[in-house]
Amino acid sequence: MTRSLAEAAAEAAGCTRCGLAQGRTQVVFGVGSPDAELMFIGEAPGFHEDRQGEPFVGAAGQLLTRMLGEIGLRREDVYIGNILKCRPPGNRDPLPAEIEACTPWLVEQLTLIQPRVVVTLGNFATKFVLQTTRGITSMRGRTYEWRGRTVIPTFHPAAILHGGGEKSRQFQDLRDDFTMIRATLDAPVVVPEPDPVVGHADDDHPPAEHQMELF
Ligand code: URA
Repeated sequence: MTRSLAEAAAEAAGCTRCGLAQGRTQVVFGVGSPDAELMFIGEAPGFHEDRQGEPFVGAAGQLLTRMLGEIGLRREDVYIGNILKCRPPGNRDPLPAEIEACTPWLVEQLTLIQPRVVVTLGNFATKFVLQTTRGITSMRGRTYEWRGRTVIPTFHPAAILHGGGEKSRQFQDLRDDFTMIRATLDAPVVVPEPDPVVGHADDDHPPAEHQMELF
């Protein structure tokens, strides 16, 4: 019998699979509906997330919440998680060993939630999920089929805040991507053929060596 998301979260709360366990305030497992059709995947908790135990609660999270509102969704309608469940010191990039240790939690989240649409926020999550070395600027603006789900890469909200803000071209692109998310959710569901083949989203750009695959 499979366990529930809440049971998985309870076990994750005591996780010591990597060194980040020492420096964290708490594990930031994820938040939202266990039945969500739409799941967001970010990089790792930051300062505020580590304190509050919830992903995307800082400034970037507020922008994410606002963008959700623009397409008629609340945080509780979706599921929001990260590749890493614990804050890396000083918000440094996740290390390969940390990703490897943490990936089983993300796999379990995806397995239990079964989201139809997955939105990867920023370079890091996009490269990891779609196993590509291409950057977010060239990956965004379209959908990718991935194991029977639709993946929509978009900018990390923090990149918008640190870039040109609301007047920037990137912000308009983010808005366009959220419109695409809405349209994808609204499109009739096509039952996919079983696809046992493990493929990469971009076979011209194979994954970086040592990059951990999601499945
Ligand atoms: N950035 C992320 O990638 N995740 C968070 O939870 C917060 C900021």
